[in-house]
Amino acid sequence: MGGAEYAYEPDRSWRGKIRRRAVRAVGRTAVGRTVDRPIVTFSFDDAPLTAATSGAAALERRGVTGTFYLSAGLGGTSGPMGPILDGDTARRLSEAGHELACHTYTHLDCGQARGEQALDDVRQNAEAFESWGLPRPTNFAYPYGDVSARCKTVLAPSFDTMRGLHHGIVSRRSDRHQLPAVGLEGADALTVGRMWIDRLVDRGGWLILYTHDVDRNPSPWGCDPDVFEELIDHTIARGAEIMTVRSVVDLLQIG
Ligand SMILES: [Zn+2]
Repeated sequence: MGGAEYAYEPDRSWRGKIRRRAVRAVGRTAVGRTVDRPIVTFSFDDAPLTAATSGAAALERRGVTGTFYLSAGLGGTSGPMGPILDGDTARRLSEAGHELACHTYTHLDCGQARGEQALDDVRQNAEAFESWGLPRPTNFAYPYGDVSARCKTVLAPSFDTMRGLHHGIVSRRSDRHQLPAVGLEGADALTVGRMWIDRLVDRGGWLILYTHDVDRNPSPWGCDPDVFEELIDHTIARGAEIMTVRSVVDLLQIG
């Protein structure tokens, strides 16, 4: 994806906000299972190469793995978050035990796209995964966190979970086709991350954290490597378990 596309913003109008909230009432399928201990997923959207180097390495050093939501059509391109990882890197991540999940092929705005278009786009991503020698992705994150009722309904049968960007902790009642998540982005990544990890430990459940690049000079959507490591260590110190989305799906049998 070039800079021009990254500059594209989803519908931030009040109509867009109301629609996103309304869609959360559509096609709800509850997780239905209680997470009996605090679990954190560290995930990466898009995903820049630094997520696969600094981000993955930080997790691997602690014997844990993460979920990478990839738009395969961006693979090997470059943008404000640096180069986006390619097929070879994705395969290495998969072999190291990380989960490679779907984020559409073209980083499609599922709030604006037609249903068939969204379906074709995720099919194309699955084909790219196959050509890269990766397992079929079973979990999904909406680009820009946005989705229309139609796209949500059409995509739901293809994935065990689909993730948005609205803040929250996943509980038994959460909609597995529009899971909440918390971003580790920008200057307040450490404060926000620690607050949500502490909240998780107090209340229990499943917290999905996401970032983009993991870089000393991060983009506004990225995270500094020291901050990222501190948040992994804080998670471990607070006694929460770190798992990929796929592992949590298996644990809770919500697929
Ligand atoms: Zn994205």
